[in-house]
Amino acid sequence: MTGSAKPNHRRPPRPKGWGSPPGWCRFCGEGTVKRRRWHDACRIVWRIANNPQFARTIVFARDRGVCARCGIAAEKWHVDHEGPLVDAYGDFSYWELDNLVTLCVDHHKAKTGREKKRLAKEKRQRYKFAGLGGLSKPTPTPRPRQQRFQLPF
Ligand SMILES: [Zn+2]
Ligand SMILES: [Zn+2]
Repeated sequence: MTGSAKPNHRRPPRPKGWGSPPGWCRFCGEGTVKRRRWHDACRIVWRIANNPQFARTIVFARDRGVCARCGIAAEKWHVDHEGPLVDAYGDFSYWELDNLVTLCVDHHKAKTGREKKRLAKEKRQRYKFAGLGGLSKPTPTPRPRQQRFQLPF
């Protein structure tokens, strides 16, 4: 325990099965064979969420660097969280593959800029309404789900 960990909205939340004994998946909490601690698919989902380099490899296998906005295979591209992590509020699905898209540097910059503007606006509104006892905390936006464990290969 260091006690220095600052809350970081980019860090995925602990999954449901965290702390399960052997034989139960640490991700989903369901039973496994041979007292294993993970289902193979669950382990991959967890790794994608926690290892940006691994996520990048998987996303590249799926998209081949083709930007989701302009359709051009960019030399420089970023993995973008389509539903921004700042909206996740502990919803693990924000870190899953179906929320990861390829964006070229320009389109990623543009999206980040839009998000910054939106967040600044929301912050202003919260201050404005704080005195009225409302809107002190934003409500999490539920993210529409697609297939969960589908891998691109
Ligand atoms: Zn599992
Ligand atoms: Zn683009």
